[in-house]
Amino acid sequence: MRVAVLGGGITGLFAARYLRARGAEVTLYEQTRMGAGSIHAAGILEGHNYYTINNLRYLRRAFRYLRNGSSQLRRVDRRWFMGYLRSFGRTIRPQDLERVAELGSHSLREYASLAQTADDFGFWIGGLTERYENPRLFRDALRNLRSRPEQERVEVTEDKGGGGSLHYPDMGWLDTERCIQRITRELSGVRTVLAEVDRVDVDGKVESPEGREPFDRVIVTTGIACRRLGLPITAVKGYGWTAPRVASLRNAVIFADWGLAAVPLTQSVKVTSGWDFTLSADSRRANALWARARKLLGVPENVPMEQGYRPATPDGLPLVGRRERLVVATGGFRLGWSFAPGLARHAVDLALDDATEDPFLSRYCGSLRGGSLRGAFPS
Ligand SMILES: Cc1cc2nc3c(=O)[nH]c(=O)nc-3n(C[C@H](O)[C@H](O)[C@H](O)COP(=O)(O)OP(=O)(O)OC[C@H]3O[C@@H](n4cnc5c(N)ncnc54)[C@H](O)[C@@H]3O)c2cc1C
Repeated sequence: MRVAVLGGGITGLFAARYLRARGAEVTLYEQTRMGAGSIHAAGILEGHNYYTINNLRYLRRAFRYLRNGSSQLRRVDRRWFMGYLRSFGRTIRPQDLERVAELGSHSLREYASLAQTADDFGFWIGGLTERYENPRLFRDALRNLRSRPEQERVEVTEDKGGGGSLHYPDMGWLDTERCIQRITRELSGVRTVLAEVDRVDVDGKVESPEGREPFDRVIVTTGIACRRLGLPITAVKGYGWTAPRVASLRNAVIFADWGLAAVPLTQSVKVTSGWDFTLSADSRRANALWARARKLLGVPENVPMEQGYRPATPDGLPLVGRRERLVVATGGFRLGWSFAPGLARHAVDLALDDATEDPFLSRYCGSLRGGSLRGAFPS
């Protein structure tokens, strides 16, 4: 079977890998370089975890981030906004959340198995600590923890001032850059086309500067650009910096009051920040966010920076669905790396007719259609 994968971010790379392993003839289209859309991420792997955003708890946190400058509200996708209003307050059935959590569990096993074959991308289950300065935020996090149907192992520490920390010993991380290099290296037999796809249709035709090509199936993993195919996806933009190692940083840390993450890698520390609802490629805001990160971590001024977009559905959970020859997999939001192998595997099962659509995971795919992929960032 001839299958095209559109988008060489972490989801697309895994989709291409799985397709090859199952004997498909694969063409992978990426508009810039492999991993471009995913490389900026912290690389924290949250295993069985998930976050929903269509509720008051998330809104409270979002307003706090707007007030302290960790977030900006510029522009959201119109279809996403309508979907957000419609789904606000809707509870998600435990069995559906379990389905989402399975994507994360599969992914963690997949990264572990890759690392077992060759330990060359910094994969490490070293624990994740969420630090809370603000007592209200900490109490809110504790309440949320207790309300969840199933729980990760977690150790709670309360500070004297009312803040505290949650430590998840079973969570881990990886080096995003080295992981992308590893998967790309192993894509033997995959034809890669470094060009922006102009258009894709439900009959399997893909239009790029290379011409118009028919495929038996097309898997679309273009992140925020999936919004151009009728899906309610918006972008939550952030930045990733690679700084010299910080000796005191022994495991992954999220500074929850600021939405800032720091991950110790072999030679460096990966720092990420920024929760901007925007459809713009403008990165001027990165400087202010970096100044804050430097203060918190004591790292030097000039380090390499990448920007990226968390593709978010109205409820913040991932999305995989199919229409005719077109399969789409996106919506990883803040856990795109944690979900990518699981999301890709389900997309490949759908493309190869080995599975039917999961009613929850395909919940927004009723409006999926072919169309132009250009114009994901109108301003
Ligand atoms: C600051 C920040 C930190 C993060 N940290 C973490 C973390 O610690 N852990 C975690 O699990 N997740 C994290 N995430 C989320 C994660 O990075 C995203 O969810 C993930 O990158 C989504 O992967 P994707 O492959 O689905 O889409 P993308 O990464 O967006 O990749 C899509 C790819 O498609 C390509 N593309 C787009 N349009 C076209 C076209 N027309 N033609 C050809 N190619 C095209 C793009 O160039 C891109 O490479 C973070 C996100 C941000 C912003």
